[in-house]
Amino acid sequence: MMVWRCLMALGLLAVTLLSAPLVRAEPIIQFGGTVSPGGLIIGTTGPGNSVSVDGQSVRVSSTGLFLMGLGRDAAGDLRIEVTAPDGAVARQAVNIPQRDYDIQRIDGLPKKQVTPDPDTQQRINRENGLIKAARRNDGDIAYFANGFQWPVTGPISGIFGSQRILNGEPRSPHNGVDIAAPEGATIVAMGDGVVTLVHDDMFYTGMTVMLDHGHGLTSVYVHMNDILVTDGQRVTKGTPIGKVGHTGRVTGPHLHWGVTLFATHLDPMLVAGPMPE
Ligand SMILES: [Zn+2]
Repeated sequence: MMVWRCLMALGLLAVTLLSAPLVRAEPIIQFGGTVSPGGLIIGTTGPGNSVSVDGQSVRVSSTGLFLMGLGRDAAGDLRIEVTAPDGAVARQAVNIPQRDYDIQRIDGLPKKQVTPDPDTQQRINRENGLIKAARRNDGDIAYFANGFQWPVTGPISGIFGSQRILNGEPRSPHNGVDIAAPEGATIVAMGDGVVTLVHDDMFYTGMTVMLDHGHGLTSVYVHMNDILVTDGQRVTKGTPIGKVGHTGRVTGPHLHWGVTLFATHLDPMLVAGPMPE
């Protein structure tokens, strides 16, 4: 009796499958990049498909490229949904592995803190506004498709994600990579793009340049002692943009290099790959 019921059920299933509409072409998704907190994932799908990541629609280039950025504390699954023009939907979940960071606890520091005076604080707010505005750019040209390189090489003096906890108070994690290249070393664009910010004296970051690589991907280069580009200039990967310096609030010459996808800080070492010899 049970066997018969099972066969009946299978028969019903077969009928259901046979009477279903013809199978439509599935939207294709492929991934490049690094699946890790701090990583940038470059997806490829059919041109004309639309994509959402964790329920948020993302820009798809005319050749089907789209970007996904994993923040410092990204965890769990990234849920990707691709919809073809004919309505066919493909879903994929990408599991994000755990990543540990360097945490440095320093206790027993004197309570007195350096608080900027009101004028300085106003200036800091104004400059932060300029940086945030540059990070909101959602350019439709996929400059990032041409790949990335290191802007300068040298000893790494600060890595992405490390954090100091002073007297039990967590400070902002380090959101880029510090490269202790010598003063005056040439800094080049990490990828093709457009210069979206040139500032010769920011309170924290000194001489600062930002590049827009398309689809919300931005890179920032700070503490420079010379700037070799102008706002709005089109650059290619390797174009000299400035010189290593120690402008802004900094103890010695180095390049702080940051990469963001909109407001999400990424790890430049994961975006560009290992530093060349
Ligand atoms: Zn830094």
